[in-house]
Amino acid sequence: MTNETMGSRNVQRSKDAFVEAKKVIPGGVNSPVRAFRAVDGDPLFIERGVGAYLYDIDGNRYIDYMLSWGPLIAGHAHPDVVQAVTSQALYGTSFGAPTEIETKLANEVIKAFPSMDLVRMVNSGTEATMSAIRLARAFTKRQRIVKFAGCYHGHSDGLLIRAGSGVATFGLPDSPGVLPGVAQYTLLVPYNDIHAVKRIFEQFGDEIAAVIVEPVAGNMGMVLPQPDFLPFLRTITKEYGALLIFDEVMTGFRIAYGGAQEAYGIRPDLTTLGKVIGGGLPVGAYGGREEIISMVAPLGSVYQAGTLSGNPLAMAAGLATLTLLQQPGVYDRLSSIATRLAEGFALAAKKYGLDANVVAKGAMFGTFFAKDPITDYTSAQTADTALYARYFHAMLERGVYLAPSQLEAGFVSLAHTDEDVDRTVEAMVEAMEVASQNR
Ligand SMILES: *Cc1c(COP(=O)(O)O)cnc(C)c1O
Repeated sequence: MTNETMGSRNVQRSKDAFVEAKKVIPGGVNSPVRAFRAVDGDPLFIERGVGAYLYDIDGNRYIDYMLSWGPLIAGHAHPDVVQAVTSQALYGTSFGAPTEIETKLANEVIKAFPSMDLVRMVNSGTEATMSAIRLARAFTKRQRIVKFAGCYHGHSDGLLIRAGSGVATFGLPDSPGVLPGVAQYTLLVPYNDIHAVKRIFEQFGDEIAAVIVEPVAGNMGMVLPQPDFLPFLRTITKEYGALLIFDEVMTGFRIAYGGAQEAYGIRPDLTTLGKVIGGGLPVGAYGGREEIISMVAPLGSVYQAGTLSGNPLAMAAGLATLTLLQQPGVYDRLSSIATRLAEGFALAAKKYGLDANVVAKGAMFGTFFAKDPITDYTSAQTADTALYARYFHAMLERGVYLAPSQLEAGFVSLAHTDEDVDRTVEAMVEAMEVASQNR
C-alpha cells in the first residue's frame, strides 16, 4: 500500500488517468518531478486552477503552494492574465516576426533588473542558462564554468551535474548520456563555501569563464546565501576576469520584484529569468551588460535562436503578471504570507517534537524536517524524507498541495488569502500529528 491510498478522499480518476498516461508517456509525466516518486505515491491529475486553488479530476480541491513550480505568482487563471492571453490569441498565436509586445516586456524586465542593458527572450529556463553559458564562454574565451552542488540550472548537458531537486531526488549524480568531455568543464563547489570557491579559482582561475549560481537556492529546498557569499562571488569573479551569472529563473520577480540581485544589492554580469516572467506560459530570458549581450546574433556571432521565442501569448501573460506585481505593497503582503507559513511549520513541528528548519524570503518559503540549519546540498540531504512523505500526503488529505519532494521550495501568490494561510497552518498541525505517529 502506498502512502497515497492511506487517505479517505477519492482519487480513483487520477489513478486511472495515470495508468493511461504511462502507456504513452515515459513514466506518465512530461517532467520527472511530477511523478510523486520522492513521496512514494501517484500524481494527481489536475482539471483546473482558480486563484490559490487547484482541482483534481476527482473534484478534490487543494490550496496550492507549488503554483506550477513557481510561475503562477498571480495565482491560477488570474482574470487579467486570462484576458491578456485570450485577446492576443484572437490576433494570432505566433508570427516568427517581431511584435511590439516583446519590446514592452523587455522594457519591464530591464526596468526591474538594472544589471541588464539588453534582454533576449527564449522559451524556458533551460534555454536561458544554456545560452548564457555559451555567451560567457564566447565573451571570456575560456571554457570552464563553476556551479554549486544542489543548484539546478535546467537540463542542458554541462549543467546537469549535482543539480538538486528532480535529479537529486532520483539520486543521479549526473545523467547517462552527458559526455564526460562536457562534464569535465563544469567545476563543482558546495553552496555557501567561500573557501572552496577560492581554492577552485587558485587552481583554474584563468580558465574559468563564469560562475553560475542561484542567488537564493530553491532547488535543494530553499537555502539562503550566507551574508558574505554573494559579495564574495562578485569580488572573486571580477578579480579573475570571470563572469558572474545569477540564475534568477526561480527568484526573479519572486524574492523581490528585481529578484535576489535587488534584495542583496549585487550586480551580476548576466542574469537568467523564467517562470514568473511567463505568467504561466513558456518563457525564459537572459540578459546583461551591453558589451557581453551584444555578442548575441544578429548583433554578434554567438548563435541562439527560437521558432517560438518571444511568443506573443507568453509575452502577454508575462506582461499582465508583471503589471499586477507593480502594485504597491505586493511584496510585503507576499512575504508576510510566506513567513507565516514557515513559522507555522516550525511551531507545529515543535509541538510534536520534530526537528524543523525553516526559511522565508519574498514570495518563497522553505521547510525542512532537519535538526541543523541547511546551508548547502550536503546538509539538505540530512532532512528526513520519509517523514516529509507522510506529512505531504497528510497535507494533501487536508486539502493542501505542497511540492512532492522535500528538496523543493514553497511558493505563495497574490491569490492566497489570510484565511487560506490559517487553514494551511491548522492542517500543518494535524498533518504533523499524523506523520509523527506513523513511524
Ligand atoms: C526551473 C529552473 C530552471 C529551468 O527552467 P525550465 O523552464 O524548467 O527549463 C533553471 N534554473 C532555475 C534556478 C530554476 O529554478
